[in-house]
Amino acid sequence: LLKIRKLHKSYGANEVLKGISLDIHEGEVVSIIGASGSGKSTFLRCLNLMETPTSGFMDFERFAFDYELGARRQPTPQQLCELRARIGMVFQSYNLWPHMTVLENVVEAPIRVRRMPRRQAVAEAEALLQRIGLYEKKQAYPSKLSGGQQQRVAIVRALAMAPKVMLFDEVTSALDPELVGEVLALMASLAADGMTMLLVTHEMAFARDVGTRTLFFDGGVIAEDGPPKEVIGAPRSERLRHFLRRVL
Ligand code: ATP
Ligand code: MG
Repeated sequence: LLKIRKLHKSYGANEVLKGISLDIHEGEVVSIIGASGSGKSTFLRCLNLMETPTSGFMDFERFAFDYELGARRQPTPQQLCELRARIGMVFQSYNLWPHMTVLENVVEAPIRVRRMPRRQAVAEAEALLQRIGLYEKKQAYPSKLSGGQQQRVAIVRALAMAPKVMLFDEVTSALDPELVGEVLALMASLAADGMTMLLVTHEMAFARDVGTRTLFFDGGVIAEDGPPKEVIGAPRSERLRHFLRRVL
C-alpha cells in the first residue's frame, strides 16, 4: 500500500531520519516506539508531506515522489491536498478549529477539498458523530468538550475525508488518564474495521494487543521491526530492552 525507500530528513546539519525503508501493507496497525528525538514524529510528518524529505522515494496510490530527482517532481499544492486527504493525521494536541462547531469542523474539509455537496457532508458527519456517541454535541464548540471528546472529534474529522491510511502522533499523551481509554477504544475499533494505521505511542498495552507490527526507532533508523510479541515481548537489542524498561 505504502512503499518508502531510503527516506532522509535533515534540519540543517542535524540528520533526523537516516534512511528509512519500509513497506506498509493494507490493514496493518503499526506502532512506532522509540526515545524522544529519535525521529518518530518527523517520520509521520514526512509521510503526508507536512515535512519535505531531504531525499528518498515514496509510493502511495497514484502518488509517487522521488526526492532524489530534486525539485522537478515536487508535488503540486493540489497533490498535497489530495495526499493529506488519503493519509489522515491526528496529533497530540487537539487540532479542532475553536471558532467552529463540532459539525462544522467535520464537514469543512469534505466540502472544501472533496467538493462534496453540503447535505451529503452533513449526513456523513452526523453518522460518524453517532458512531462515537457525540451526535448530541454537534452544535457545541470544541471548548465545551472534554479533551477525550475533542480528540475523538479530531479523529472523526480526519475520517470524514475517507482516508486510506491514518497517522496518529501520541494522540493520548496530553489527555487526563481517565480519558485515554475512550480514544484508544475508537482507534481499536478503526483497526478492527481494517483501517491501515501508523501510530506513535507510549501505550504499550495498545501496541501489543491491537498492533500487528511494532517499529523501534533509534537515532533516525528503524532498529527493530516485527510483530509486537517479538519486538516488545522479546527485544533483541540492549537499547530496546533499556527503552522498554523505562516505559513499561
Ligand atoms: P518525541 O518522542 O519527543 O516526540 P520524536 O521521536 O517524535 O520525539 P522528532 O520530533 O521527530 O522526535 O524530532 C527529532 C529531531 O528532529 C529532534 O532532534 C528535533 O530537535 C529535530 N526537529 C524536529 N522538528 C524540527 C524542526 N521543525 N526544525 C528543526 N529541528 C527539528
Ligand atoms: Mg514526537
